[in-house]
Amino acid sequence: MRANYHTHTWRCRHASGTEREYVENAIRGGLKVLGFSDHTPYSYPKEFVSHMRMQVDQLEGYVDTVLDLKREYREDIEIHLGLEVEYYTEHYIEYFHKLQRLVADYPVEYFLLGQHYIECEIGGYWSGRPTDDPGVLEKYCAQTIQAMETGYFTYVAHPDLIRFTGEEGIYEEQMRRLCRKAKSLGLPLEINCLGIYEGRNYPSERFWEIAGKEGCEAIVGIDAHDAEALNRPQPIQEAEDIARRYGLSLRETVELRPPV
Ligand SMILES: [Zn+2]
Ligand SMILES: [Zn+2]
Repeated sequence: MRANYHTHTWRCRHASGTEREYVENAIRGGLKVLGFSDHTPYSYPKEFVSHMRMQVDQLEGYVDTVLDLKREYREDIEIHLGLEVEYYTEHYIEYFHKLQRLVADYPVEYFLLGQHYIECEIGGYWSGRPTDDPGVLEKYCAQTIQAMETGYFTYVAHPDLIRFTGEEGIYEEQMRRLCRKAKSLGLPLEINCLGIYEGRNYPSERFWEIAGKEGCEAIVGIDAHDAEALNRPQPIQEAEDIARRYGLSLRETVELRPPV
């Protein structure tokens, strides 16, 4: 593995270690490219405090830290500055627009799409919650597709996060739609190592089978929430095995798409 674009920091409140430890483990693990993509801040109303992302006033410290490390380690590894972002539609879209205005002041190079919430974090559903409701699955796919169509996202992190327990045919139909859109836009789909390491419901074999049939491109993302994850070969090998098993073409690196 040459490049990993999916890396968190302690600011998201559920990751550990210092950024320097992440960089040093990435170098030890043989990576040539390391992208930081911590959970984005969102300008939510003051009374709502998210427990899974940095606060708006932490963005500056995040940017400065990553840029300092980028300079310091430039001989050893290529470091990039990104964010993992949910896309919000309909009446929640203003949160996304505010985010774009916020990051326009910083040299943020890319967004990964991480659709952790259907509708919105405030008042919406956690995408990983089991559901047999086809309406929820359809919303997840529609929101993901709209996000891809904006052109602001570099790739789709854990597209198989949704945990649909309903009819198989409905799952296939919706996910085929999502995969076809990714393919037509040339957007890679991420096989997520954290899911493998923690035995989560993703990577989902049934999803990757569909993605393989649709000729999608895949990329392995470590989704590091601890420094050691960047030097842990087993989940990476298992992710590569999934790509091989379903005939997915695996991207080593991606072209970063400007997020604004
Ligand atoms: Zn996280
Ligand atoms: Zn992540």
